[in-house]
Amino acid sequence: MREWQREIRHALKTSRELASFLEINSIEETDYPLFIPKKFAALIKKKGQNSALWRQFVPSSKERENSGMTDPIGDQVHAKGGQLIHRYPSRALFLPTTRCPIVCRYCFRKNELYDQDLNVFTPEFEKTLNYLKSHPEIVEIIYSGGDPLMLSEGKLIEQAKAFSEVGIKFLRFHTRFPVILPERIDDIFIEFLKEITSYFESVSLAIHINHPEEITKEFVERITPLRSLPVHLFSQTVLLKGVNDSTSILTELFLGLSCTGIIPYYLHHPDKAQGTDHFQLSLEEGQKICQGLRGNLPGWALPRYILDLPGGKSKVEAISGNYLASKNGHVFKTFKDQEVFY
Ligand SMILES: *Cc1c(COP(=O)(O)O)cnc(C)c1O
Ligand code: SF4
Repeated sequence: MREWQREIRHALKTSRELASFLEINSIEETDYPLFIPKKFAALIKKKGQNSALWRQFVPSSKERENSGMTDPIGDQVHAKGGQLIHRYPSRALFLPTTRCPIVCRYCFRKNELYDQDLNVFTPEFEKTLNYLKSHPEIVEIIYSGGDPLMLSEGKLIEQAKAFSEVGIKFLRFHTRFPVILPERIDDIFIEFLKEITSYFESVSLAIHINHPEEITKEFVERITPLRSLPVHLFSQTVLLKGVNDSTSILTELFLGLSCTGIIPYYLHHPDKAQGTDHFQLSLEEGQKICQGLRGNLPGWALPRYILDLPGGKSKVEAISGNYLASKNGHVFKTFKDQEVFY
């Protein structure tokens, strides 16, 4: 068994185990599952109760303040069966698994991932391929989830070949593994990446990372060999209250990523998912934080500040001036020129 697989197998899964590991009396109660590999829990423990890591991964009773939506970005609306979500003509999300190397407390799919009845997670690969065949306008498959690196390289290669055979040109993996269990980027994975680059015009790894404390020595060591591969390294960050809601923290994060060869791609305004109220901030607060980034970062190291409109209508740039301010909110225009209230 590989190192990362052993960590997944022996991860902390109950409040009691976690409390004992962190040496605290108890973990606050929530209605969502708990999953933290011990190795990462050791880092959380080292950073302490008020740290960005603790807030992102240790359950809080605030998750019971339920004002958000179960499906904030309209996954169900755009689900095509066979694990595909097709919202933008040119590209589709592929959700191969509901499992992740950790359970993030702020997860925008937290109400979907653990619901057994959702058809977006039904493994029907034939259906997926048939859909792609009848939609030649789709040029990119974006692995999301769940975390696609929970799958074996064998499975991923099989799928990648099939995708290239139906005409997919670009492949992208969204993953939190390099932060949570950097050892996932082992020789087998690197060989896998080398192999699939021959099937596609481009292969990208979009690494989900929210705070400079997540750029550990091991993270950098494991990313470094990827820099010489023909693979794009991008990052994706969620703006979270109490975690990274400051210009200086984000500056440090994006500069750190840039030094590691990772291009900051998106900074997401948090989706209004149920159970994430305590991470929410307003658009105006987010804009204020982002405004200062322009002076601190080279243009190529400045991610786009993005908002997913409710109901999965569209991603839009969350910057001021990109919407009409109305009495109690904002009116954005989607890529289809449709007006959506936020
Ligand atoms: C975010 C998202 C994508 C990817 O969009 P990019 O702007 O290419 O990163 C694709 N499909 C869906 C449904 C999405 O939510
Ligand atoms: S890794 Fe992503 S999908 Fe998985 S729990 Fe975290 S935010 Fe959700």
